[in-house]
Amino acid sequence: MSLTFEDRVQLVEERISKACERSGRSREDVQVIAVTKYVSLDTAKTALSHGFRHLGENRWQDAQEKWEAISGETANGIDEQPIWHFIGSLQSNKVKDVIGKFTYMHSLDRLSLAEAMDKRASQLGIVVPCFIQVNVSGEGTKQGLAPNELKGFVEQLASFKSISPIGLMTMAPYEAEPEQTRPVFKALRELRDVIQSSSAHGKTITHLSMGMSNDFDVAIEEGATWIRLGTILVGKEEE
Ligand SMILES: *Cc1c(COP(=O)(O)O)cnc(C)c1O
Repeated sequence: MSLTFEDRVQLVEERISKACERSGRSREDVQVIAVTKYVSLDTAKTALSHGFRHLGENRWQDAQEKWEAISGETANGIDEQPIWHFIGSLQSNKVKDVIGKFTYMHSLDRLSLAEAMDKRASQLGIVVPCFIQVNVSGEGTKQGLAPNELKGFVEQLASFKSISPIGLMTMAPYEAEPEQTRPVFKALRELRDVIQSSSAHGKTITHLSMGMSNDFDVAIEEGATWIRLGTILVGKEEE
């Protein structure tokens, strides 16, 4: 049995609405990023034509073909342009590939990266909205700042004029029982609340990028404003 794109959209939408209802939130406060990293250009176009304007990719090598076909100079026939989100970890020397092409950066996790991003954005004359990635769970394999490093980092970011921190991002460890991820999402929300009220430069940090295919219902209940959905929404195509 394989689901059509419409089926998947409907299932996901129902779950988002229910999670919003359960937590007394409004559906408009949760935005969906369709993560196209596992799928072809055609599938990315299908998502776009179904109204998913926010597309996420985690490696420039994988994104390049899609980006160029949809948003590059040779692209044509795409009426509604997507808004690209870079969600993967990024080496500083790759910054030049993605700044200017991706509107949002979700994986800001160190000063050297902030410096490289700021420099490139400044050359292009743009200000890049960024999410600061936090490793809430402390899992060794996850990128991100430790929670206790966040405040100092936010203060340091204030000197960069071409990047603008707008929120926090995290990845929960995979759990067979998604409810187990709740403490991670709750902790990110609490960190956001603390940084907003305690840091002179934390006022703009309002968003929470959290929740993936396996755990987005719980993330919404805990306050996610952006959820990043790959497999469950656009599927996963084998190479
Ligand atoms: C791949 C990826 C996703 C989407 O993963 P799914 O489990 O397929 O929904 C979300 N966020 C990040 C950072 C990713 O790398």
